[in-house]
Amino acid sequence: MATIPDRLQRVRDRISQACSRFGRPDDSVTLLAVSKTFPGVTVREAFAAGQRRFGENYVQEGVTKIAELADLRAEIEWHMIGPVQSNKTRVVAEHFDWVHTVDRLKVAERLSAQRPADLRPLQVCVQVNTSGEASKSGVAPAEALALARTVAALPRLQLRGVMALPAPSVDPAVQRAELAAVRAVYDDLRAAGLPLDTLSMGMSQDLETAIELGSTLVRVGTALFGQR
Ligand SMILES: *Cc1c(COP(=O)(O)O)cnc(C)c1O
Repeated sequence: MATIPDRLQRVRDRISQACSRFGRPDDSVTLLAVSKTFPGVTVREAFAAGQRRFGENYVQEGVTKIAELADLRAEIEWHMIGPVQSNKTRVVAEHFDWVHTVDRLKVAERLSAQRPADLRPLQVCVQVNTSGEASKSGVAPAEALALARTVAALPRLQLRGVMALPAPSVDPAVQRAELAAVRAVYDDLRAAGLPLDTLSMGMSQDLETAIELGSTLVRVGTALFGQR
């Protein structure tokens, strides 16, 4: 099996090849390494290979890992990319740098109120659900602007962009249409005057298509760390 530095290099190559293929500067796409279910020692290996941004899905697992890697805290940016329940907002606000999954005003208000004064504002994305499945997290595209405006006005949050987690599809055309719909929401919010710079979409399987459609941050787990 390939080592983590090899896999990291391979993913970086995929990103830069996609960038050049789609006429984008190399540095216009950020790699977020999704370390959920992998131990702190694995994060250390990726860190040693130069990776600095890590994403976690589960609040308790993430906080445990952040504590385990406290010696690297100043150099790592920790992103919460899983659902955040209202009763978990305080621990998220106290430990993470970013939250990608804000889809309710109540959660946004609590994160802002609970963000410690000595930390920089929490960097957030509004999660959008373009598939229309009622059960999935994310705000409907028609409601994204209203939520984004309210979030942007909260004092201890800095609204950075839009995140989406399209359901995996065997049909590339369906996958592409979903990513394009997310991009459209991002463009609408920017056109409405919100100063966004982050379009968080694309994972191990579809990062090239996501980059083609304008992603600025790809969240990659399996291609870096292996199957979970
Ligand atoms: C697990 C996860 C990823 C990474 O997915 P891979 O297919 O393993 O690259 C990205 N984003 C979110 C929200 C995830 O939960």
